[in-house]
Amino acid sequence: MNLSRRGFFKATGAAFAASMAFELSSQSEALAFESGQDWKLVNTEEYTNICCYCAGGCGSLCSVRNGELINVEGDPDHPVNEGGLCPKGAAMFQLRNVVDPETREVVKNPGRVTSPMVRRPGSSEWEKIGWADAIKAIARKVKDTRDATFVETDDGGLTVNHTPGMASLGGSQQNSEEEYLILKAMRSLGLIAIDNQARV
Ligand code: SF4
Repeated sequence: MNLSRRGFFKATGAAFAASMAFELSSQSEALAFESGQDWKLVNTEEYTNICCYCAGGCGSLCSVRNGELINVEGDPDHPVNEGGLCPKGAAMFQLRNVVDPETREVVKNPGRVTSPMVRRPGSSEWEKIGWADAIKAIARKVKDTRDATFVETDDGGLTVNHTPGMASLGGSQQNSEEEYLILKAMRSLGLIAIDNQARV
């Protein structure tokens, strides 16, 4: 087929115009369809937050309507993740709300723990206790364990003043300053097994 330069532009131009017309008509159908839906995030307020799962510290946007969490997604303005979230972070919404498998309604996560829990010696059940009681019980056990396991000198008579009976594992959300304070507190008790849980 012989095509002049002018004929070539005419033919390809017509094909391009036809494909654009098709694109636009299919898009306008899609847009018309979508505009008839209720947008998920309409009338929500956005709050920034930090992912709770690892020390990466990715930023998230939490959309809330009437005090209810509607959506969690990566914060595109956050310097760490620029909008991305790993599968754990992307599932953060489920810490608070889950989809009921029967009704397909979004409901509060029934497995969410909202207060300190204790499993008493000999019991197979966990029970809720208040924060004051929890802190008191933990402090008592720390003191008792330290007193029972404290070592002043090693086998060679060298002063060591430590306890091998306890360890400290920091959470992934603690920042450097908090870890510093935890380290000081634990060292003052004589702990030597101290670590934090970044990206475990
Ligand atoms: S768990 Fe994933 S989303 Fe959360 S801070 Fe770590 S890398 Fe980021």
